[in-house]
Amino acid sequence: MLSIIIPAYNEEEVLEEFYRRISDSLINIDLPYELIFVNDGSRDRTLSLLTNLTQQDERVVVIDLSRNFGKEIAVSAGIDFARGEAVVIIDADLQDPPEVIPELIEQWRNGYDNVYARRSSRDGESIIKKITSYLFYRVIGGMTHIDIPADTGDFRLLSRRAVDALKQLPERNRFMKGLYSWIGFPSIAVNYRRDPRYAGTTKWNYWKLWNFALEGITSFTEVPLKLASYVGGLIAFAAFCYGMYIIVNTLYFGNDVPGYPSLIVTILFLGGIQLIFIGILGEYLGRAFAEVKQRPLYFINKVIKK
Ligand code: UDP
Ligand code: MG
Repeated sequence: MLSIIIPAYNEEEVLEEFYRRISDSLINIDLPYELIFVNDGSRDRTLSLLTNLTQQDERVVVIDLSRNFGKEIAVSAGIDFARGEAVVIIDADLQDPPEVIPELIEQWRNGYDNVYARRSSRDGESIIKKITSYLFYRVIGGMTHIDIPADTGDFRLLSRRAVDALKQLPERNRFMKGLYSWIGFPSIAVNYRRDPRYAGTTKWNYWKLWNFALEGITSFTEVPLKLASYVGGLIAFAAFCYGMYIIVNTLYFGNDVPGYPSLIVTILFLGGIQLIFIGILGEYLGRAFAEVKQRPLYFINKVIKK
């Protein structure tokens, strides 16, 4: 069986069209399937539309979370629930075309565990978003050993053993793109064109994206923590050289001007550096705190199916 996980948060405008397109795309796969919609605390008609779908089609299951937990957790809830031999994760807004799913299945039948869809174009996205996302992959790629493929999102197919591996990763801060790569297993890309959203609006803004990038970096590398020692070392070395210069200079030429400017510059510079690294410590500490609390990832309000 194939399980398809669809996180949905305030998607009333797209759900019916999504259901139509995904059902059409799955007609010709000779596999039974289940459509697992995870209602992530929507505040519009999403839940009632989904409930109607469960009445029409017994392959539809709705997991109604107790509140909005964010997409990453909604996907995790779907993964915990999925029973299929293969699991597909797809957005509800039709940016991930369901017509690609048969290709994903084909690669899975060829023996790949992690078949990820890679967007070959990013229509409807601003140039700033393209640049920042490019930079993000470069930065994180430079700092970790795991390969996080650029231009891929959650849209992918995972085999049963990949899903079981994912379920063993207990972290609360779930940077899914990284986790998919971290588990390893044979992986392959399938290219597709990413369409603009069918309707509704994105739940992302730049502040959220920035936090998402921080999440990725802090979940997958300790490089920023280690930076402190290197930067500190460099500055100490520079300070030592400067000190020697001042001593020699004073011995030969005397000291007629008290060193206010150099003093204030040093103090401000070091103060800034220290604050930056305290901030970095805070990022990691905050995440460690979230893990230590050992809270469950999500709560389910109810599961609806026919
Ligand atoms: N989503 C969710 N919970 C959230 C935000 C988003 O389940 O808190 C779902 C949303 O319904 C959609 C998918 O995650 O199916 C992707 O969301 P969106 O289109 O806003 O992200 P983008 O495509 O802009 O990255
Ligand atoms: Mg979208």
